[in-house]
Amino acid sequence: MGQLYDDNNIFAKILRGEIPSHKLYEDADTYAFMDVMPQGKGHCLAITKSPYRNILDATPDSLAAMIATTQKLARAVKAAFDADGVTVMQFNEPASGQTVFHLHFHVVPRFEGVALKPHTGQMEDNAVLAANAEKIRVALSQIR
Ligand code: AMP
Repeated sequence: MGQLYDDNNIFAKILRGEIPSHKLYEDADTYAFMDVMPQGKGHCLAITKSPYRNILDATPDSLAAMIATTQKLARAVKAAFDADGVTVMQFNEPASGQTVFHLHFHVVPRFEGVALKPHTGQMEDNAVLAANAEKIRVALSQIR
């Protein structure tokens, strides 16, 4: 028996509109927004709309929807920031580094020679997040 889903987690609150987020994308099953403690310029998150804690309790269908949105974000951030590559990360339970217990994938644009910053390190300036979010939204609108 795995750990239970707690609907007071911060991403559930974002989905309910109880706390703000820099929204990038939404469909029937998923939602995407900027990570407030980015490990690199343009770090964003795809989350499920269903109450799954992580990959261990999610259904294959919900994971398929998550990966489709993750791929959209990966293509968009690569174009938006002219990135050299994109890192996709996903953590399950505290031992792996998971800190928010609502299924999500990290999407981080990568640049040759630039290392990732620490996980859940420093809060980014809100204006920087807003500007980067706008670039990603424009790229999403131009990508199939
Ligand atoms: P994880 O450690 O994989 O569970 O990742 C949680 C991520 O959520 C971290 O990268 C945090 O920086 C990010 N995060 C935490 N709170 C918020 C928030 N309110 N809005 C956006 N991102 C957040």
